Amino acid sequence: MYHDVYHHDIKESGFQNTGAIPYKLTSREFELHIRAIAKFCESGKMNKNEVALTFDDGGESFHSIIAPILEKYGFKGYFFVTTVLIGTRGFMNDKQIADLHNRGHFIGTHSHTHPKNIAELPYAEIESEWTKSVETLNKIISAKVKVASIPGGFYSEQSRIALKKNGVELIFNSMPTKKIDHNSDNQYIIGRFTIKKGTTIEAVLQLMNNNSVSQFYQFAKWRGLALIRSALGNNYYRIREVMLKNTN
Ligand SMILES: [Zn+2]
Repeated sequence: MYHDVYHHDIKESGFQNTGAIPYKLTSREFELHIRAIAKFCESGKMNKNEVALTFDDGGESFHSIIAPILEKYGFKGYFFVTTVLIGTRGFMNDKQIADLHNRGHFIGTHSHTHPKNIAELPYAEIESEWTKSVETLNKIISAKVKVASIPGGFYSEQSRIALKKNGVELIFNSMPTKKIDHNSDNQYIIGRFTIKKGTTIEAVLQLMNNNSVSQFYQFAKWRGLALIRSALGNNYYRIREVMLKNTN
């Protein structure tokens, strides 16, 4: 799970809040990751189409930097778009999204407004988040969106049901696992490993290589975070912003 990539200025693409900064990689750092992943695949350890490289939020760098690098090394990306932000500063417009789709990448929904905790909303709002977003994207790409990623990783059964109603078959959450859940509604729930600025190539390759130690480490951190989040509710974000400001 990646987010934005930038050439010069960390504010070129995507969300501008302090919380988003640790997830943005430089274009050089990103290309080194993708080159290493390609090499790993080319050594016969995995097929390139078995690697799901996902990108959250819908930043302009998906089109300007990320897609060209993926294409150079023979990968397709999963690009998840927050639809209310389409065409605003730092985010892709309709044409760029349609272009990525036409080049064979996967366009998916990342909700309409990127609520802080979508799992806490009443069901009607959850459904409207996914419906508005999927309908907007279906129009833009002239095809049916089949994939989603959950903002902030706040997966819930209600989101799953609302996504089913909208024809979404593949749901990426933020649970660091390689286990894929397949349910009776014929949907696949797929975990992801978070890549941040400074995540080393060795760490990325360890995750690819079925290294259970680094997977367990991410899983343990995620469990801890999930517990803290549910205890703090919306205060989690306020506290996280303050903590990030103090460490920068
Ligand atoms: Zn997001």
